[in-house]
Amino acid sequence: MTDAIAAVMPAANAAFSIVPITVEDPQRGEILIDIKAVGVCHTDLVMVSGAFGTVFPAVFGHEGAGIVVAIGDGVTKVAVGDKVLLTFNSCGACARCTDDDPSYCTQFSALNMACARGDGSSRLHANGTALSDNFFGQSSFASKSIAMERNVIKLAEDADLAMLAPLGCGVQTGVGAVTRSLEAKAGQSLVVIGGGSVGLSAVLGGRLAGCSPIILIEPQQDRRTIASDIGADHVIDPGAGDIVGAVRALLPAGVDLVVDTSGHIPSVTASLGMLANKGKLGLVGLPGAFDAALPVPVIQWITSGGTVRGIVEGDSDPDQFLPELIEHHRAGRLPFDRFVRTYPFAAINEAIADAHSGKAIKVVLTF
Ligand SMILES: [Zn+2]
Ligand SMILES: [Zn+2]
Repeated sequence: MTDAIAAVMPAANAAFSIVPITVEDPQRGEILIDIKAVGVCHTDLVMVSGAFGTVFPAVFGHEGAGIVVAIGDGVTKVAVGDKVLLTFNSCGACARCTDDDPSYCTQFSALNMACARGDGSSRLHANGTALSDNFFGQSSFASKSIAMERNVIKLAEDADLAMLAPLGCGVQTGVGAVTRSLEAKAGQSLVVIGGGSVGLSAVLGGRLAGCSPIILIEPQQDRRTIASDIGADHVIDPGAGDIVGAVRALLPAGVDLVVDTSGHIPSVTASLGMLANKGKLGLVGLPGAFDAALPVPVIQWITSGGTVRGIVEGDSDPDQFLPELIEHHRAGRLPFDRFVRTYPFAAINEAIADAHSGKAIKVVLTF
């Protein structure tokens, strides 16, 4: 058993409370990690509402980065002292996992959203109370976290943990949505809806793939400015009017690829009308309602050869894709640091308020 601190969510829609906790020793296949930095991702904030049936008190956090302090029996991928990046978990045994497509693991919900070990036990306790944990196989809003071999990758000794933390979910999701899920090719046109960290990462993905032009639709001026700085050729303020007309004015035959990161159903529905023949729409942003639906016009869709594609984690295979992204960042081709802002872990509530207000785009908490 190890002492640590965690940002505990005591009840639905409460404020995070930083409290002392205990963390159990790692069992077979588990890795105990000293968390040095953790990004805040939109999914953490969705979970806070309790909409996914989470039992509170709970510890979220799924963009951890840290140093291995202990390993359970059977762990060979990392050793004590290694720097590691944490990402989503997967089973490694189902048809999708064995096809190197773990973001569509058939156990994805159980392993990432259930907030408990498979046997229902918790690794984390505060004042003798079990905390819902194991969120994305990590619950890394804590100074110590337990992860599995499948959801860590080893980093170089000189890796900057605070900088790399957001790769584990938001950045790989945005970049991968374009480069992997929609298989963008050089010269294809790209519209990204929503300029949060995932949307801006999709802009960077478009740049990596050689998409042209790259167009961002985003209501906040600051985010449009950053998008222009990092590679968007055009930015559109949806508050200024008809987004389909604005895109068609730039691309009369329509756009090849659309990535929605907003989950805003009226915008997603409108985007159906901006696609070129053989165009693809990628759905990344979660809408607010579980039963949200998209009215796809069937005849138009058949005759234009359109595709609507759901996307989890940018179709990442973390062992292969995360090292690629780290190399792109090192070489200056993936400047996601332009939209990262760090806060001390104790300032988690203030950091999230800044993310909600738009003052911060990607928040990373450091220990
Ligand atoms: Zn699986
Ligand atoms: Zn996430």
